[in-house]
Amino acid sequence: MVADCLFCKIFAREIPSREVFRDDDTVAFDDIRPVAPTHVLVIPKEHIASVHDLTPDQLPIVSRLIATANRIADERKIARDGYRLVFNNGPQAGQTVYHLHLHLLGGRGLGWPPG
Ligand code: 5GP
Ligand code: ZN
Repeated sequence: MVADCLFCKIFAREIPSREVFRDDDTVAFDDIRPVAPTHVLVIPKEHIASVHDLTPDQLPIVSRLIATANRIADERKIARDGYRLVFNNGPQAGQTVYHLHLHLLGGRGLGWPPG
């Protein structure tokens, strides 16, 4: 737990969020500024600053995040129409919170290429 990290605090429930799913190692919650009808963030308990900071032994965490996102996509019934999973890495990609998080976006048509 990193003291001044927003998402460590959300994991610890020191800051409230609209939780969608939780297990021992991951939590999923609604993004506070949704850009799609489904916009859920999936984070690990472990503080890892970004996807680029993952060490080889931490890579299995990514599978856990994807498994959780896929499960939520099923629950929201957006899987057939399609959804997008996004890791923003670094400033030019729009990363604003430096605790690893996977965006689950769906419920509308999503443009490609992204902005
Ligand atoms: P990034 O831009 O780093 O890829 O994504 C960070 C996301 O966190 C943004 O979509 C932003 O809306 C969301 N966010 C920032 N602060 C909070 C918060 O306090 N609560 C929740 N639920 N989401 C947040
Ligand atoms: Zn953190």
